[in-house]
Amino acid sequence: MQPKEIFLSQPITATIKCPSCGETLLYGVTQCRFCGNAISESYAKESVVSEAVLTHAVKSANIIRSLRALLYFLLAMTVFACLWDRPYLQVLVILSFLNLIAPVRWLRKYGGLGANSEIIKARKEMKIEFGLWLAVSIFQAIAILIWLLRNRAIQQALGADSP
Ligand SMILES: [Zn+2]
Repeated sequence: MQPKEIFLSQPITATIKCPSCGETLLYGVTQCRFCGNAISESYAKESVVSEAVLTHAVKSANIIRSLRALLYFLLAMTVFACLWDRPYLQVLVILSFLNLIAPVRWLRKYGGLGANSEIIKARKEMKIEFGLWLAVSIFQAIAILIWLLRNRAIQQALGADSP
């Protein structure tokens, strides 16, 4: 996307960061009003694009993180399903497994973005989300296994009782 298009498509004012002091400046300024550093046009254009990508990366990381509520819900449902019925467990494990996709996609898309502090924070969070969803998926798979083994044991016990 061209900087101009970003400028037009964003309702908020496009900003860049001063390469010298890191303060936020309006896109289009030629000099930093904090440290007096000259802002070249080429730097401004490049920076405004990466700022837009950054904003998008942080936004989608927040959305992925907000799925944590679903994770807790699925965890609670898993415990409930263990006591109730196995088919629910299969649905739950599929749901958890699908939730692994979002953080993986995020990390593939934005994981390699520079050393920006917001990206570093988001990258850590996405790794945590991936780990949590993986843990829940494994927990649910184990729950299915226990359910199957328990039922087989019950059936064998019943089989031994009948003549
Ligand atoms: Zn500056």
